[in-house]
Amino acid sequence: MDSAPLLAADIRSPAAPAGILVIEDSRTFATALRQFLEADTGLPVTTCSCLKDLDALIAANPAGFAVAVVDLNLPDAPRGEALDWTVSHAIPSIVFTATFDLATRERIMEREVVDYVLKDNELALPNLVATVKRALDNRSRRILVVDDMRTTRKVLARMLSIQQYVVVEAGSGVEALQLLATQPDIELVVSDYHMPDMDGYELARRIRRDHPEVRIIGVSSSTDRQTSAGFLKAGAHDFLARPFVLEELQCRIASNVETLGRVRQLKDLAARDYLTGLYNRRHFFEHGRQLLEDARKGRRPCSIALLDVDHFKRLNDNYGHEGGDKALSGVAQILERVLGTSGNLLARMGGEEFAILLPGSDSTRTFDIAEAVRLAIESEPVRVGAEILPMTVSIGVAPIDRDETLESALNLADRALYGAKQNGRNQVCADID
Ligand code: GH3
Ligand code: MG
Ligand code: MG
Repeated sequence: MDSAPLLAADIRSPAAPAGILVIEDSRTFATALRQFLEADTGLPVTTCSCLKDLDALIAANPAGFAVAVVDLNLPDAPRGEALDWTVSHAIPSIVFTATFDLATRERIMEREVVDYVLKDNELALPNLVATVKRALDNRSRRILVVDDMRTTRKVLARMLSIQQYVVVEAGSGVEALQLLATQPDIELVVSDYHMPDMDGYELARRIRRDHPEVRIIGVSSSTDRQTSAGFLKAGAHDFLARPFVLEELQCRIASNVETLGRVRQLKDLAARDYLTGLYNRRHFFEHGRQLLEDARKGRRPCSIALLDVDHFKRLNDNYGHEGGDKALSGVAQILERVLGTSGNLLARMGGEEFAILLPGSDSTRTFDIAEAVRLAIESEPVRVGAEILPMTVSIGVAPIDRDETLESALNLADRALYGAKQNGRNQVCADID
């Protein structure tokens, strides 16, 4: 039998996630920290209480460490030798220290640590957990650094890379706008003021106009306070003066990134239905119009299905509102499973009514998908406590023609749904003229 030789690169250990390393001599503290970190990050945490055990840890953890929390003073390493060890092994490190003065700060900073957290207050533990989570989270955040001076740009890019951000660089405003157009996952721009082709204000104005969701931080070494005011007037969200104070840079960037996360969270909450977690009616119309437009540009067919639970009122009457709610969540889960991540848009429109927009599917295909949904719901009764509730649904299907609106297509699907109810329920009906 002819088999290709196995290359070293083919032999991969099963994808164990890189874990968190905690180097801390207080057993109580290390245990508490491990519990919090494991619960909050889902990553395995390895603890170690002294310098002499560190080398053995690398061999015992082939997946390596995504981040290390390092106590600066250990019995066998009183001068931050454990930090030297993690840094020399290229493990992003967060320092945790009880003693703090300017000399300690210098010692920490020159080793390029992600951050440091002081042990001097009762919030030290939650702060440390939040700092670790932020460092891990930063790895999926893309920041664009704009500066025409290569050396200053590189210094800032390096500082941000140490913070674990993914950094993209641009040498001019024009290049920055090109990158923003091609890399929609850039979330934050840090821009210099003095640049030959376009200054920082102009760049901030254009970003606000074309990419309103991107955060902007202006940077300048000018001592003129008008520069920061000018940046803010142009639409920047924040300003940093050069030379940077590292802690200020870290905090301002982190606070802008946090705001981005909260905005995203709020947007998602506003787009979803509280009971089932599916998209809601508002999102269905907002996003549905866009999907419809895209499908039309690509000359692809489109259709819509409207689903309503049969005799739901009876179910509510027999099992209470709570039973009804469970049944609705059950239907939502089946819908998500059957439809999968197929580019279709599924939403709870209200009450016991759900809609599915299927870009790329003609009504024949949509009819088959609707039939699969109907069968799945019929064959999977929902459990409420000890009770098993059989449930059926009726579905109306309609094609969306060239110049039809989403609203009128939904009316056609509703008409088909009415037909399905009239014909005895538990069936799919299509509105095909
Ligand atoms: P049909 O087969 O003709 O659709 O009859 P039906 O009983 O399902 O339809 P009807 O529209 O008369 O009743 C829908 C019921 O859904 C009435 C309303 O109280 C209930 N309902 C609406 N929203 C919710 C909800 O969020 N939770 C629960 N438990 N019930 C809800
Ligand atoms: Mg109903
Ligand atoms: Mg109804």
